[in-house]
Amino acid sequence: MRILVIEDEPKIAQAVKKGLELKGYAVDAVYDSDSGLSYASDPDYDLIVLDRMLPGKIDGTELCKKLREDKINTPIIMLTARGTIGDRVEGLNSGADDYLVKPFSFDELTARVQALLRRPPVNVGTELLLDDLSLNPQTYQVKRGNKPIKLSHKEFALLEYMLHHQNQIITKEMLVNHIWDEDSDVLPNTIEVYIGYLRNKIDRPFPKKKPLIHTLRGFGYKLSL
Ligand code: CA
Repeated sequence: MRILVIEDEPKIAQAVKKGLELKGYAVDAVYDSDSGLSYASDPDYDLIVLDRMLPGKIDGTELCKKLREDKINTPIIMLTARGTIGDRVEGLNSGADDYLVKPFSFDELTARVQALLRRPPVNVGTELLLDDLSLNPQTYQVKRGNKPIKLSHKEFALLEYMLHHQNQIITKEMLVNHIWDEDSDVLPNTIEVYIGYLRNKIDRPFPKKKPLIHTLRGFGYKLSL
C-alpha cells in the first residue's frame, strides 16, 4: 500500500514517513499544498495523510475539497493542531475520512491508517484470507494453515496488496505503483524477484497444497486458488 504525506513541518513529515515505512508501507512526503495537490491527483496512492495548515496557494481543507471535486476518492486522514468541534466538522465536511489532532500518538495514526485501508469484502475480522493463507495487518502475522510465515516488509506489503486484489489480474505496474515509493530504484526484474521470494515462502514449502501465486504471461500475476 502506498501513502502520500502532505505536511509542511519536516520533522513531523519525516517521522510519519519513517514510521509508516517501518510498518511496511511505501511513503512519499511533500511539503506544501501546490505539490500536494499534484501528487494527490495520482490515483495510485491508497491513502493520504494531509496536514490542514499548509503553505501554498490553498490550505489542507481546500486541497481536500478540490480533490473530491475532481473525483479523487483516495481516503484522507487530516492532521491539525486545532481540535475544536467546529474545526473537526469543517475538516470532515471538506471530504476527509478521518481527523487527527496534533500532537497525536504514532500508534493512533497507524490504527486509523489500517482502519481506512481495510476493505470489507475480503475481510473477516481484521485478517485477510485466501484459502488457508491468512495475513493480519495489525499483528503482521502471516500463516498458511497453522504454520507461521516470516516475511520482510516488502514481501508483506506485496502479499497484503495481492490479498486485497485476489482473483484479479495484478499487473507489474500496479505493484510498482502501490508497493514502492518514488525514490526506489525498481528494475524491470525487481517484481519478478520479489514474487519469487513470496513463492518460496507461501507456495514452495507446501507441495501438497494448491499454489496460490499464478503468473499470467504477458499480463502479470494473480493470487487465487
Ligand atoms: Ca502545518
